[in-house]
Amino acid sequence: MTPISYQLLIELPRPVTVTVGRLGRFRFEAGRYLYTGSARRNFEARIARHLRAEKTLRWHIDYLLAAPGARVTEVRRSTREECALNQAGSGTIAITGFGASDCRAACGSHLKYLGVPDRRRAGRGRSA
Ligand SMILES: [Zn+2]
Repeated sequence: MTPISYQLLIELPRPVTVTVGRLGRFRFEAGRYLYTGSARRNFEARIARHLRAEKTLRWHIDYLLAAPGARVTEVRRSTREECALNQAGSGTIAITGFGASDCRAACGSHLKYLGVPDRRRAGRGRSA
């Protein structure tokens, strides 16, 4: 089956304050984020666009990915509907309304905060 939705696993090495278009200005904690989106057409072109640095900032996610140090570490493709995929994932709502302008399933946000990776915590003086 052809994928219709995707998730971007994003790592932010340090906190940043980002103006997310008209949504407003927010502080993003360091750690991992999961963004869920969909593209019914030109699916791979959309993925490629997310991974490209040079682009006109258009969607909320564009502003976050343009932040210093932000990078996509994994792309997951899915045949599930965007909101179902988003709600099935773990994490907490990072910014209310983020990426959810077209959401009709009351997700609250299509960006979730997953916290700080274990390896980073382990790096703070604890031997594993
Ligand atoms: Zn949704």
